[in-house]
Amino acid sequence: MTETIGQRPWMTTPQAVAVLDALEAKGGPGCARFVGGCVRNTLLNRPIDDIDIATTLTPDEATAALEAAGLKAVPTGVEHGTITAVADGAPFEVTTLRRDVSTDGRRAVVAFSLDWAEDAQRRDFTLNAIYADRDGTLFDPTGQGIADARAGRIIFVGDAMTRIREDYLRILRFFRFLAWYGKGEPDAKALAACKALRDTLSGRPAERTIKELLKLLSAEEPRPAMTLMRETGVLGKIMPFCKDLDQFNGLVEIETSQLFENDAVLRLATLVPDDQVSVAKAAESLRLSNDIRDRLVAAMGKTPRIASWMSPRESRRAVYQVGVRAFTDRVKLAWAGSRRTAANHQWRGLLALGESWAPPPFPLTGDDVIHAGVPKGPMVGEVLREVEDWWIDHDFLDDKFSAIEKLKAVAQGMAY
Ligand code: ATP
Ligand code: MG
Repeated sequence: MTETIGQRPWMTTPQAVAVLDALEAKGGPGCARFVGGCVRNTLLNRPIDDIDIATTLTPDEATAALEAAGLKAVPTGVEHGTITAVADGAPFEVTTLRRDVSTDGRRAVVAFSLDWAEDAQRRDFTLNAIYADRDGTLFDPTGQGIADARAGRIIFVGDAMTRIREDYLRILRFFRFLAWYGKGEPDAKALAACKALRDTLSGRPAERTIKELLKLLSAEEPRPAMTLMRETGVLGKIMPFCKDLDQFNGLVEIETSQLFENDAVLRLATLVPDDQVSVAKAAESLRLSNDIRDRLVAAMGKTPRIASWMSPRESRRAVYQVGVRAFTDRVKLAWAGSRRTAANHQWRGLLALGESWAPPPFPLTGDDVIHAGVPKGPMVGEVLREVEDWWIDHDFLDDKFSAIEKLKAVAQGMAY
């Protein structure tokens, strides 16, 4: 029986039509099909992320075809036969059909192919090897992709051990897809293969690893997949420093029950050591981007101490000192690490304060200090800091006049 997902809006945008028309002008009708996440997610009524297209045209032919139609073709992954077609700003990953011929476990060496079934054989999981024509007609060369997708079964195409030996990253992709689409008991063979071959993850290029890990962590319910990753020893291979999942589970719990968000980076923060020096080292070994590293380091700071019973005044002081982002992160992490649900409303109060209160600017500058008679030099900063401390102690007093009076008193008391 032929299955169809129907012609969906994302298939008929002017950009998608332009790309398919361009490819078909060269390769004839049916030379290009949608594949991967866009087909899988549509089948499962989930939003789609990016659009992948498989084609019988070689990368050179596809490039020529796209350019002849006035579209851009960017060679984004030549080594595995992928170019990115850009139509009116919208990107489409166009990959030539291929079969794996050899591998070093890091990167499959591929040969191009004209055979859709062969192409399906080199894809990772059956639910990722479903193709759709431009009218939505589905092709399922493995014969089980559609059923597996609907049942939430993440099944390797072919022998799990062999497929992981070809590309170690498939271990992490297995847990990623499990977190997003898995239902019921995970496939025992796949799980056993991930466990048996977990050593292949050690010392691998961290960029690919962290990309998959962050995708896993952004799933709405990543706890079961993470627990399995830990039990199979896979987590220990990519994050040897991760001691347990207690704080992680605590965070996902409050995110799903209280905050209604899934913050992959904050979830990552619960898995790394909770001091600033070790987290910087962990960030290095995982090759985290500077943005993520800086956020984690800021979130790990120990002073000022965050507690559910902090007064509004102490909270404002903390927000002023570390900034609202780090304050919010620290509150969520402390909340995740605490087991007292009775304090939930207090934690929420702290987050609300962080959201609603913006620290006022300190009213004095170095010029004011010099005006008060302090000679230029290091003393200016010292005086300024002392008055700032006083101003914070007085809960950010909104009164420049009082600040100047305090400044005069401090300046007079200083020995120059
Ligand atoms: P997403 O919704 O996150 O984009 P996706 O399934 O489209 O999910 P991609 O990483 O975009 O995932 O890859 C597109 C397709 O390419 C996959 O569906 C799969 O068929 C194939 N693929 C990607 N990476 C691998 C891999 N390491 N081994 C085998 N096949 C892969
Ligand atoms: Mg994709």
